[in-house]
Amino acid sequence: MKKSYERIFENNKKWLESQLVDNPDFFKTLSATQSPEYLYIGCSDSRVSAEEMMGMKPGELFVHRNIANVVNTLDMSSTAVIQYAVEHLQVKHIIVCGHYGCGGIKAAMTPEDLGLLNPWLRTIRDVYRLHQTELDAIEDEQKRYDRLVELNVQEQCINVIKMACVQEEYLIDEYPIVHGWVFDMRSGKIIDLEIDFEQILKDIQKIYNLTDSNWVMSRKNNKNLI
Ligand SMILES: [Zn+2]
Repeated sequence: MKKSYERIFENNKKWLESQLVDNPDFFKTLSATQSPEYLYIGCSDSRVSAEEMMGMKPGELFVHRNIANVVNTLDMSSTAVIQYAVEHLQVKHIIVCGHYGCGGIKAAMTPEDLGLLNPWLRTIRDVYRLHQTELDAIEDEQKRYDRLVELNVQEQCINVIKMACVQEEYLIDEYPIVHGWVFDMRSGKIIDLEIDFEQILKDIQKIYNLTDSNWVMSRKNNKNLI
């Protein structure tokens, strides 16, 4: 029986050959370095293909995906990706992109024991708790589900903005800007939730201001002198 995954290697051969037709140096350039302008934080869902739906080529998008696009301060994976993207790759934009029909969000709306998933889903259940008045007022279950997808994106954007590296880098260079988007699988459209990054930053810095250090100020001053 022909192994089903063999088609992946066949696809890969066709793909690399097609790249070389347009640009014989494609892989030479690709292997030299990377300087993506965007960090994309999205869901692991197999139907949400970041590069494809955004029309991005290899090298243009730094990607982190997990169940329901969660950014949790105790999760070393997402926080390491964000720190690396901000400090070393100097990305200009951080996009948190959720999607309607998200299984992780649906599971979090189900008040029952889901074993190992419980600690992960708790971050999303916390989003529900924070916005319970608004969500419980939505009678239509589908609309409530869609709204939790949007609110989860908004709260994960806030979790990104809480990070010291994001605040420090923004103070120094006026980037990265954090964006909240939702992919609508029913239409194929990406919807910009138009999160007000500067206002959120200003609001949360009343509690989470992590930039008031001599180190940041001296870095900013040195930069202004150059
Ligand atoms: Zn999902």
